Amino acid sequence: MDYLESSLEVLKILNNNNFDAFIVGGFVRDYLLNIKSNDIDLTSSATPSEVSKLFKTIPTGIKYGTVLIDYNGFKFEHTTFRKDGLYNDSRHPEEIEFSKNILEDIKRRDFTINALLMDKDKNIIDYLDAKKDLDNKIIKTIGNPNDRFNEDALRMLRCISFVSKLGFDIEDGTYKSIYENKDLLRNVSIERIRIEFDKISNGCFRKKAWELFYKLKLNEIFPNMLELKTYDVSIRDILIYNLVETGEISDFWMLSKQEIRNLNKCVNLLKNGINNYNMFISGYTASIYALTYLKLDLKLWDNLKIKSLKDLNINGNDLVDVVSKNKRGDCLNHLAKLVIDGKVKNEKDELLEEAYRWNTSA
Ligand code: ATP
Ligand code: MG
Repeated sequence: MDYLESSLEVLKILNNNNFDAFIVGGFVRDYLLNIKSNDIDLTSSATPSEVSKLFKTIPTGIKYGTVLIDYNGFKFEHTTFRKDGLYNDSRHPEEIEFSKNILEDIKRRDFTINALLMDKDKNIIDYLDAKKDLDNKIIKTIGNPNDRFNEDALRMLRCISFVSKLGFDIEDGTYKSIYENKDLLRNVSIERIRIEFDKISNGCFRKKAWELFYKLKLNEIFPNMLELKTYDVSIRDILIYNLVETGEISDFWMLSKQEIRNLNKCVNLLKNGINNYNMFISGYTASIYALTYLKLDLKLWDNLKIKSLKDLNINGNDLVDVVSKNKRGDCLNHLAKLVIDGKVKNEKDELLEEAYRWNTSA
Protein backbone atom coordinates (compact mmCIF):
# COMPACT_ATOMS: atom_id res chain seq x y z
CA MET A 1 0.00 0.00 0.00
CA ASP A 2 1.47 3.35 -1.00
CA TYR A 3 1.54 6.63 0.88
CA LEU A 4 -1.79 7.98 -0.40
CA GLU A 5 -3.60 4.65 0.03
CA SER A 6 -2.28 4.38 3.57
CA SER A 7 -3.55 7.85 4.40
CA LEU A 8 -6.99 6.93 3.01
CA GLU A 9 -6.96 3.91 5.35
CA VAL A 10 -6.28 6.27 8.25
CA LEU A 11 -9.30 8.34 7.19
CA LYS A 12 -11.42 5.15 7.04
CA ILE A 13 -10.39 4.15 10.55
CA LEU A 14 -11.24 7.63 11.82
CA ASN A 15 -14.60 7.56 10.00
CA ASN A 16 -15.39 4.12 11.44
CA ASN A 17 -14.91 5.63 14.86
CA ASN A 18 -17.42 8.38 14.10
CA PHE A 19 -14.96 11.15 13.33
CA ASP A 20 -15.07 13.35 10.23
CA ALA A 21 -11.67 13.11 8.58
CA PHE A 22 -9.96 14.49 5.48
CA ILE A 23 -6.70 15.05 3.72
CA VAL A 24 -6.27 18.82 3.62
CA GLY A 25 -4.04 21.55 2.28
CA GLY A 26 -1.02 21.28 0.05
CA PHE A 27 -1.41 17.63 -0.88
CA VAL A 28 -4.93 18.06 -2.29
CA ARG A 29 -3.90 21.24 -4.11
CA ASP A 30 -0.87 19.54 -5.64
CA TYR A 31 -2.88 16.39 -6.46
CA LEU A 32 -5.29 18.46 -8.57
CA LEU A 33 -2.37 20.22 -10.22
CA ASN A 34 -0.66 16.90 -10.94
CA ILE A 35 2.33 17.88 -8.84
CA LYS A 36 3.96 15.09 -6.87
CA SER A 37 3.74 15.74 -3.13
CA ASN A 38 5.35 13.77 -0.33
CA ASP A 39 3.60 15.45 2.50
CA ILE A 40 0.05 14.47 3.42
CA ASP A 41 -1.65 16.52 6.14
CA LEU A 42 -4.73 15.11 7.79
CA THR A 43 -7.45 16.87 9.69
CA SER A 44 -10.31 15.35 11.66
CA SER A 45 -12.75 15.96 14.47
CA ALA A 46 -10.76 13.60 16.71
CA THR A 47 -8.74 15.28 19.46
CA PRO A 48 -5.05 14.40 19.83
CA SER A 49 -5.84 12.02 22.70
CA GLU A 50 -8.61 10.35 20.69
CA VAL A 51 -6.21 9.96 17.75
CA SER A 52 -3.55 8.45 19.97
CA LYS A 53 -6.02 5.77 21.10
CA LEU A 54 -6.46 4.65 17.48
CA PHE A 55 -2.91 4.97 16.13
CA LYS A 56 0.68 5.03 17.10
CA THR A 57 1.37 8.75 17.44
CA ILE A 58 4.21 11.12 18.15
CA PRO A 59 3.27 14.43 19.77
CA THR A 60 4.77 17.21 17.64
CA GLY A 61 2.61 20.26 18.23
CA ILE A 62 0.14 19.38 20.97
CA LYS A 63 -0.40 23.07 21.70
CA TYR A 64 -1.85 23.46 18.21
CA GLY A 65 -3.61 20.10 18.19
CA THR A 66 -1.04 18.38 16.00
CA VAL A 67 0.26 14.83 16.33
CA LEU A 68 2.20 12.69 13.90
CA ILE A 69 0.39 9.46 13.04
CA ASP A 70 2.68 6.54 12.32
CA TYR A 71 0.71 4.10 10.17
CA ASN A 72 1.83 1.34 7.84
CA GLY A 73 5.38 2.66 7.82
CA PHE A 74 4.27 6.16 6.81
CA LYS A 75 3.94 9.31 8.86
CA PHE A 76 1.05 11.77 8.59
CA GLU A 77 0.63 15.05 10.37
CA HIS A 78 -2.81 15.15 11.95
CA THR A 79 -4.36 18.36 13.22
CA THR A 80 -7.70 18.37 15.00
CA PHE A 81 -10.36 20.67 13.48
CA ARG A 82 -9.87 23.97 15.20
CA LYS A 83 -10.81 27.56 15.14
CA ASP A 84 -8.04 29.90 16.06
CA GLY A 85 -8.44 32.27 18.96
CA LEU A 86 -7.19 35.83 19.09
CA TYR A 87 -3.91 36.68 17.44
CA ASN A 88 -2.26 39.64 19.05
CA ASP A 89 1.31 39.52 17.86
CA SER A 90 0.88 38.94 14.11
CA ARG A 91 2.43 35.55 14.66
CA HIS A 92 0.67 32.82 16.56
CA PRO A 93 -2.86 32.45 17.80
CA GLU A 94 -2.88 33.16 21.52
CA GLU A 95 -5.13 30.22 22.06
CA ILE A 96 -6.76 27.65 19.87
CA GLU A 97 -10.05 25.96 20.28
CA PHE A 98 -10.92 22.54 18.92
CA SER A 99 -13.96 22.32 16.74
CA LYS A 100 -16.28 19.59 15.47
CA ASN A 101 -16.98 21.56 12.33
CA ILE A 102 -14.74 21.21 9.29
CA LEU A 103 -15.94 24.54 7.87
CA GLU A 104 -14.55 26.38 10.86
CA ASP A 105 -11.24 24.66 10.31
CA ILE A 106 -11.24 25.51 6.61
CA LYS A 107 -11.83 29.18 7.33
CA ARG A 108 -8.80 29.54 9.59
CA ARG A 109 -6.48 28.44 6.76
CA ASP A 110 -4.53 30.96 4.69
CA PHE A 111 -5.37 30.74 0.99
CA THR A 112 -8.35 29.25 -0.83
CA ILE A 113 -6.12 26.86 -2.78
CA ASN A 114 -4.85 25.48 0.56
CA ALA A 115 -8.32 24.70 1.85
CA LEU A 116 -9.35 21.84 -0.44
CA LEU A 117 -10.28 18.52 1.14
CA MET A 118 -10.12 14.91 0.02
CA ASP A 119 -12.22 12.25 1.73
CA LYS A 120 -11.52 8.53 2.15
CA ASP A 121 -12.92 7.78 -1.35
CA LYS A 122 -10.77 10.43 -2.99
CA ASN A 123 -13.72 12.78 -3.48
CA ILE A 124 -12.64 16.40 -3.53
CA ILE A 125 -14.62 18.73 -1.30
CA ASP A 126 -14.39 22.37 -2.21
CA TYR A 127 -16.25 24.68 0.18
CA LEU A 128 -14.58 27.89 -0.97
CA ASP A 129 -14.64 27.66 -4.75
CA ALA A 130 -10.93 26.96 -4.63
CA LYS A 131 -10.96 24.86 -7.81
CA LYS A 132 -11.88 27.98 -9.72
CA ASP A 133 -8.86 29.76 -8.25
CA LEU A 134 -6.70 26.76 -9.13
CA ASP A 135 -7.96 26.85 -12.71
CA ASN A 136 -7.39 30.60 -12.92
CA LYS A 137 -4.02 30.22 -11.20
CA ILE A 138 -4.85 32.70 -8.48
CA ILE A 139 -3.65 32.94 -4.87
CA LYS A 140 -6.30 34.56 -2.74
CA THR A 141 -6.69 34.77 1.03
CA ILE A 142 -9.68 33.17 2.66
CA GLY A 143 -11.75 36.11 3.84
CA ASN A 144 -10.53 39.68 4.21
CA PRO A 145 -6.79 39.82 3.43
CA ASN A 146 -6.14 42.68 5.88
CA ASP A 147 -7.60 40.63 8.71
CA ARG A 148 -5.76 37.50 7.69
CA PHE A 149 -2.35 39.23 7.40
CA ASN A 150 -2.93 41.01 10.70
CA GLU A 151 -3.55 37.65 12.35
CA ASP A 152 -0.37 36.16 10.93
CA ALA A 153 1.97 38.35 8.93
CA LEU A 154 4.01 35.39 7.72
CA ARG A 155 1.15 34.59 5.35
CA MET A 156 2.38 37.47 3.14
CA LEU A 157 5.66 35.66 2.59
CA ARG A 158 3.87 32.34 2.23
CA CYS A 159 1.94 33.96 -0.60
CA ILE A 160 5.21 34.75 -2.39
CA SER A 161 6.43 31.18 -1.71
CA PHE A 162 3.36 29.79 -3.44
CA VAL A 163 4.02 32.08 -6.41
CA SER A 164 7.49 30.56 -6.53
CA LYS A 165 6.22 27.00 -6.28
CA LEU A 166 3.18 27.28 -8.57
CA GLY A 167 3.81 30.31 -10.81
CA PHE A 168 0.34 31.66 -9.93
CA ASP A 169 -0.70 35.33 -9.79
CA ILE A 170 -1.77 37.06 -6.60
CA GLU A 171 -5.39 38.18 -6.54
CA ASP A 172 -5.69 42.01 -6.64
CA GLY A 173 -7.13 42.50 -3.14
CA THR A 174 -4.57 40.14 -1.63
CA TYR A 175 -1.76 41.90 -3.50
CA LYS A 176 -2.86 45.36 -2.38
CA SER A 177 -3.18 44.16 1.18
CA ILE A 178 0.38 42.79 1.21
CA TYR A 179 1.63 46.16 0.00
CA GLU A 180 -0.25 47.94 2.75
CA ASN A 181 0.51 45.53 5.61
CA LYS A 182 4.07 44.59 4.88
CA ASP A 183 5.42 46.34 7.98
CA LEU A 184 3.76 43.66 10.11
CA LEU A 185 6.44 41.28 8.85
CA ARG A 186 8.85 42.98 11.22
CA ASN A 187 7.14 41.08 14.05
CA VAL A 188 7.82 37.65 12.59
CA SER A 189 10.77 35.56 13.77
CA ILE A 190 13.74 35.09 11.48
CA GLU A 191 13.36 31.30 11.79
CA ARG A 192 9.94 31.37 10.12
CA ILE A 193 11.06 33.97 7.61
CA ARG A 194 14.10 31.94 6.59
CA ILE A 195 11.91 28.93 5.82
CA GLU A 196 9.87 31.01 3.38
CA PHE A 197 12.94 32.64 1.81
CA ASP A 198 14.37 29.19 1.23
CA LYS A 199 11.09 28.04 -0.35
CA ILE A 200 11.03 31.13 -2.57
CA SER A 201 14.64 30.40 -3.57
CA ASN A 202 13.90 26.79 -4.48
CA GLY A 203 10.67 27.22 -6.45
CA CYS A 204 10.49 26.68 -10.22
CA PHE A 205 8.99 30.16 -10.56
CA ARG A 206 11.41 32.00 -8.28
CA LYS A 207 12.03 34.63 -10.92
CA LYS A 208 8.38 35.63 -10.90
CA ALA A 209 8.27 35.42 -7.08
CA TRP A 210 11.26 37.70 -6.45
CA GLU A 211 10.02 40.12 -9.08
CA LEU A 212 6.75 40.44 -7.13
CA PHE A 213 8.67 40.56 -3.84
CA TYR A 214 10.63 43.60 -4.99
CA LYS A 215 7.63 45.19 -6.71
CA LEU A 216 5.77 44.99 -3.40
CA LYS A 217 8.85 46.57 -1.78
CA LEU A 218 9.03 43.73 0.74
CA ASN A 219 12.82 44.05 0.52
CA GLU A 220 12.54 47.28 2.50
CA ILE A 221 11.38 45.31 5.52
CA PHE A 222 14.54 43.21 5.71
CA PRO A 223 18.20 44.27 5.78
CA ASN A 224 20.71 43.51 3.01
CA MET A 225 18.16 42.96 0.26
CA LEU A 226 19.52 45.09 -2.55
CA GLU A 227 17.88 44.40 -5.89
CA LEU A 228 19.95 42.40 -8.35
CA LYS A 229 19.78 42.80 -12.11
CA THR A 230 18.20 39.38 -12.39
CA TYR A 231 15.47 37.83 -10.28
CA ASP A 232 16.54 34.28 -11.00
CA VAL A 233 18.36 34.07 -7.68
CA SER A 234 18.32 32.48 -4.24
CA ILE A 235 18.31 34.30 -0.90
CA ARG A 236 22.00 33.38 -0.63
CA ASP A 237 22.73 35.11 -3.93
CA ILE A 238 20.98 38.22 -2.62
CA LEU A 239 23.12 38.22 0.55
CA ILE A 240 26.28 37.64 -1.49
CA TYR A 241 25.38 40.54 -3.78
CA ASN A 242 24.88 42.75 -0.75
CA LEU A 243 28.25 41.70 0.67
CA VAL A 244 29.96 42.47 -2.64
CA GLU A 245 28.33 45.90 -2.80
CA THR A 246 28.43 47.00 0.83
CA GLY A 247 30.79 44.62 2.66
CA GLU A 248 28.15 44.10 5.31
CA ILE A 249 25.89 41.37 6.54
CA SER A 250 23.32 42.03 9.25
CA ASP A 251 22.98 40.05 12.51
CA PHE A 252 19.30 39.84 11.59
CA TRP A 253 20.04 36.75 9.48
CA MET A 254 21.49 34.87 12.47
CA LEU A 255 24.08 33.17 10.31
CA SER A 256 26.62 30.88 11.94
CA LYS A 257 30.26 31.99 12.07
CA GLN A 258 31.04 29.22 9.62
CA GLU A 259 28.42 30.47 7.16
CA ILE A 260 29.70 34.05 7.41
CA ARG A 261 33.22 32.77 6.75
CA ASN A 262 32.02 30.91 3.67
CA LEU A 263 30.13 33.93 2.36
CA ASN A 264 33.18 36.16 2.84
CA LYS A 265 35.42 33.62 1.12
CA CYS A 266 32.94 33.50 -1.74
CA VAL A 267 32.96 37.29 -2.04
CA ASN A 268 36.77 37.32 -2.10
CA LEU A 269 36.73 34.65 -4.77
CA LEU A 270 34.32 36.73 -6.86
CA LYS A 271 36.56 39.78 -6.41
CA ASN A 272 39.76 37.90 -7.25
CA GLY A 273 38.15 36.17 -10.20
CA ILE A 274 37.12 32.56 -10.73
CA ASN A 275 39.97 30.36 -11.82
CA ASN A 276 41.13 26.90 -10.82
CA TYR A 277 43.68 28.00 -8.27
CA ASN A 278 41.43 30.64 -6.66
CA MET A 279 38.68 28.03 -6.30
CA PHE A 280 41.18 25.61 -4.77
CA ILE A 281 42.27 28.07 -2.09
CA SER A 282 38.68 29.16 -1.38
CA GLY A 283 37.50 25.60 -0.78
CA TYR A 284 34.40 23.68 -1.76
CA THR A 285 31.57 25.67 -0.18
CA ALA A 286 32.74 29.13 -1.20
CA SER A 287 33.51 27.90 -4.71
CA ILE A 288 30.07 26.33 -5.15
CA TYR A 289 28.47 29.55 -3.84
CA ALA A 290 30.46 31.63 -6.32
CA LEU A 291 29.82 29.33 -9.29
CA THR A 292 26.11 29.29 -8.47
CA TYR A 293 26.06 33.08 -8.10
CA LEU A 294 27.70 33.51 -11.50
CA LYS A 295 25.47 30.77 -12.99
CA LEU A 296 28.54 28.81 -14.08
CA ASP A 297 28.73 25.03 -14.40
CA LEU A 298 29.43 23.38 -11.02
CA LYS A 299 31.57 20.86 -12.91
CA LEU A 300 34.27 23.54 -12.90
CA TRP A 301 34.81 22.54 -9.28
CA ASP A 302 34.53 18.78 -9.94
CA ASN A 303 37.11 19.07 -12.68
CA LEU A 304 39.82 20.51 -10.41
CA LYS A 305 42.77 18.14 -10.48
CA ILE A 306 43.13 18.44 -6.72
CA LYS A 307 40.63 19.91 -4.30
CA SER A 308 42.77 20.31 -1.20
CA LEU A 309 46.39 19.88 -0.15
CA LYS A 310 45.44 16.41 1.07
CA ASP A 311 44.94 15.34 -2.55
CA LEU A 312 48.53 16.25 -3.40
CA ASN A 313 50.66 13.10 -3.69
CA ILE A 314 53.27 14.61 -1.46
CA ASN A 315 53.14 16.01 2.07
CA GLY A 316 55.24 17.95 4.54
CA ASN A 317 57.07 14.83 5.73
CA ASP A 318 58.21 14.04 2.21
CA LEU A 319 59.83 17.48 2.07
CA VAL A 320 61.91 17.09 5.25
CA ASP A 321 65.20 16.65 3.40
CA VAL A 322 64.34 19.12 0.64
CA VAL A 323 62.79 22.25 2.14
CA SER A 324 63.34 23.91 5.52
CA LYS A 325 60.42 23.63 7.95
CA ASN A 326 59.17 27.20 7.75
CA LYS A 327 59.01 27.12 3.94
CA ARG A 328 57.19 23.80 3.54
CA GLY A 329 53.70 25.30 3.56
CA ASP A 330 54.55 27.77 0.78
CA CYS A 331 56.23 25.01 -1.15
CA LEU A 332 53.15 22.75 -0.98
CA ASN A 333 50.95 25.64 -2.17
CA HIS A 334 53.34 26.26 -5.04
CA LEU A 335 53.20 22.56 -5.99
CA ALA A 336 49.41 22.58 -5.74
CA LYS A 337 49.22 25.51 -8.14
CA LEU A 338 51.44 23.74 -10.65
CA VAL A 339 49.29 20.60 -10.47
CA ILE A 340 46.06 22.59 -10.76
CA ASP A 341 47.40 24.51 -13.76
CA GLY A 342 48.44 21.22 -15.38
CA LYS A 343 52.11 22.14 -15.38
CA VAL A 344 53.20 19.20 -13.25
CA LYS A 345 51.67 15.74 -12.83
CA ASN A 346 50.39 14.84 -9.38
CA GLU A 347 53.12 12.22 -8.93
CA LYS A 348 55.51 12.09 -6.03
CA ASP A 349 58.77 11.97 -7.98
CA GLU A 350 57.88 14.90 -10.19
CA LEU A 351 56.64 16.89 -7.23
CA LEU A 352 59.83 16.23 -5.25
CA GLU A 353 61.93 17.36 -8.19
CA GLU A 354 59.82 20.49 -8.50
CA ALA A 355 60.10 21.16 -4.74
CA TYR A 356 63.87 20.95 -5.02
CA ARG A 357 63.90 23.41 -7.93
CA TRP A 358 61.55 25.80 -6.08
CA ASN A 359 63.74 25.67 -2.96
CA THR A 360 66.94 26.46 -4.75
CA SER A 361 65.42 29.31 -6.77
CA ALA A 362 63.39 30.80 -3.90
P1 ATP B 1 3.86 23.08 0.81
O1 ATP B 1 3.75 22.57 -0.55
O2 ATP B 1 4.81 24.24 0.94
O3 ATP B 1 4.04 22.03 1.89
P2 ATP B 1 1.31 23.42 2.11
O4 ATP B 1 0.07 24.10 1.59
O5 ATP B 1 1.22 21.97 2.40
O6 ATP B 1 2.44 23.75 1.07
P3 ATP B 1 2.18 23.75 4.82
O7 ATP B 1 3.08 24.81 5.36
O8 ATP B 1 2.67 22.34 4.78
O9 ATP B 1 1.76 24.23 3.38
O10 ATP B 1 0.83 23.85 5.66
C1 ATP B 1 -0.23 22.91 5.51
C2 ATP B 1 -1.58 23.64 5.49
O11 ATP B 1 -1.78 24.32 6.73
C3 ATP B 1 -1.69 24.73 4.43
O12 ATP B 1 -2.10 24.19 3.18
C4 ATP B 1 -2.73 25.65 5.03
O13 ATP B 1 -4.03 25.12 4.84
C5 ATP B 1 -2.41 25.57 6.52
N1 ATP B 1 -1.50 26.64 6.96
C6 ATP B 1 -0.15 26.55 7.06
N2 ATP B 1 0.39 27.69 7.52
C7 ATP B 1 -0.64 28.53 7.73
C8 ATP B 1 -0.75 29.87 8.22
N3 ATP B 1 0.32 30.56 8.56
N4 ATP B 1 -2.00 30.39 8.30
C9 ATP B 1 -3.10 29.68 7.96
N5 ATP B 1 -3.06 28.43 7.50
C10 ATP B 1 -1.86 27.86 7.38
MG1 MG C 1 2.76 20.77 3.29
